[in-house]
Amino acid sequence: MDNKTILKQLKLQAALMELHDENSFKIRGYQNAVFNLDKTDLDLGSLSLAELEKIDGVGKSIATNINEINQRGISSALEEYLKNTPEGIVELLDMKGIGPKKIKVLWKELGIESGHELKEAANSGLVAKLKGFGEKTQQTIINALEFKEANAHKLHFAEAEKLAEIVIAEMLKITPDIKIEVTGALRRKMEVIEVIDLIVATDDIETIEDALDDAENFEQVIEESGPITWRGTYKELRIPIQLSFCEKEDFVKEQFLRTGSNLHLSLEVKDKLTLKDIVRQQNFASEKEIYAAAGLGEIVPEMREGTFEIEAAKNGKLPELVEMKDLKGILHNHSTYSDGKHSLEQMAQHCKDLGYEYLGICDHSKSAFYANGLKEDRVIQQQEEIDRLNEKLAPFKIFKGIESDILYDGQLDYTDDVLASFDFIVASVHSVLNMNIEKATQRLLTAIENPYTTILGHPTGRLLLRREGYPIDHKMVIDHCAKHNVVIEINANPWRLDLDWRWVHYALEQGVKLAINPDAHEMDGYQHMVYGLLAGRKGGLTADMTFNALSAEEIGKYFAERKQKIAANV
Ligand SMILES: [Zn+2]
Ligand SMILES: [Zn+2]
Repeated sequence: MDNKTILKQLKLQAALMELHDENSFKIRGYQNAVFNLDKTDLDLGSLSLAELEKIDGVGKSIATNINEINQRGISSALEEYLKNTPEGIVELLDMKGIGPKKIKVLWKELGIESGHELKEAANSGLVAKLKGFGEKTQQTIINALEFKEANAHKLHFAEAEKLAEIVIAEMLKITPDIKIEVTGALRRKMEVIEVIDLIVATDDIETIEDALDDAENFEQVIEESGPITWRGTYKELRIPIQLSFCEKEDFVKEQFLRTGSNLHLSLEVKDKLTLKDIVRQQNFASEKEIYAAAGLGEIVPEMREGTFEIEAAKNGKLPELVEMKDLKGILHNHSTYSDGKHSLEQMAQHCKDLGYEYLGICDHSKSAFYANGLKEDRVIQQQEEIDRLNEKLAPFKIFKGIESDILYDGQLDYTDDVLASFDFIVASVHSVLNMNIEKATQRLLTAIENPYTTILGHPTGRLLLRREGYPIDHKMVIDHCAKHNVVIEINANPWRLDLDWRWVHYALEQGVKLAINPDAHEMDGYQHMVYGLLAGRKGGLTADMTFNALSAEEIGKYFAERKQKIAANV
């Protein structure tokens, strides 16, 4: 069995143990083991019972569970817990913001056994009356359930993009004589995708439809399909597939019409005409020609949102967007010093191997105890190791950073002399996420005013499809960053993409630079850079305004000058 599946089962078991009031010492041991196994490089599926028992922190009982999962797909302990828990309760366990202890109360005291029942109870006010719940928790539950319902069939971009490739390959296998590409929100690189939208050019729709009928992986939903549109599912994917058929000579036009947002296509571009009008006038050989006929430069698919790009194109001010090759280094990454999977040296070596000039290491700070945040002595230890590695890996450079927790009142969590020991600081919120917009905004403003803050990390803390971010006044936050010369992060993790691309253009207008940061917790995490890049491009990000497009020398100078300024002002 693969590690991911094993860990998923172990995590579920830990939650069920809590739900069923097992001994708290036993639960703690279990949770710690799962936390450690999450970071292991061992292939758990290939180990014998004896080998499993030898892993640090894995006792006899966990080793037995893993061994059983390897042998029969599930452990007997988990089977036993599942037998004694209603299915709906198991589903509720992955609801954000409500732990197993509270779910147990809901189950035992109100007899709730499903999300549907819980929503009814919460809406009627019953939940708030339970001991230890109250109005606020009740509202949290309602929000979490509504959020879950609304997102049940959506995917984040990175996953949707991969699935689209699989579906395209399969389509080409069953009907080789077609041209097929992505379109819609997927082609615009939207952060959340509701449908895998594909355009298919063919001279023979009937043959394709017959092939799809025969293909066992495709399942049509007849009621939602039409004469030139096939809608349905692929294998057991949760997300719907849409295939729009067109004739080969109409491919450019049809893909164009299905790619741009409605606003992009219906804004006036020339002589009272919209792009929609222009594209229907004649056949074009390329999208570039369509824009040329409108008197505009070509607008890349990811920018076709109808926000600022038409105006920019009309004025001949389309930005030259940042590209992967412009990115010179990677800031905001974790190592085994806090909650990362790979050592500082592994993270640095891999970054260097990928061709980057520098790595900014930003392990968690001391308040993030749950993530093994660094106390002062370990900060010193890490910085000494960085000095050694910088000699060894030169000219590659590791910059000494930290992801400093923004405390509830906006303060950073080290004293000034410790803060002064870093080259740069990413300030991020990780706790007390339920503030109202005034408080949450003020908290960020205070952190931005701190002279040691170099970069504001993931500004809203959102996890796409999992939890909404805390509410903030984006304008005030961006304006404050402009005033205090603080860079804003576009966290490139596909679950975050925070700063949201919708605010990129405004930030650029205020002169705020953006850093594309993967927040990598393992070497493979660097692969997320591309998603942050796409989010930046959606908002018109240029290389000039991308902080980590600076070379190692330039960014080193920037950090040094900033530090001098702080020292002069203290
Ligand atoms: Zn963070
Ligand atoms: Zn981080």
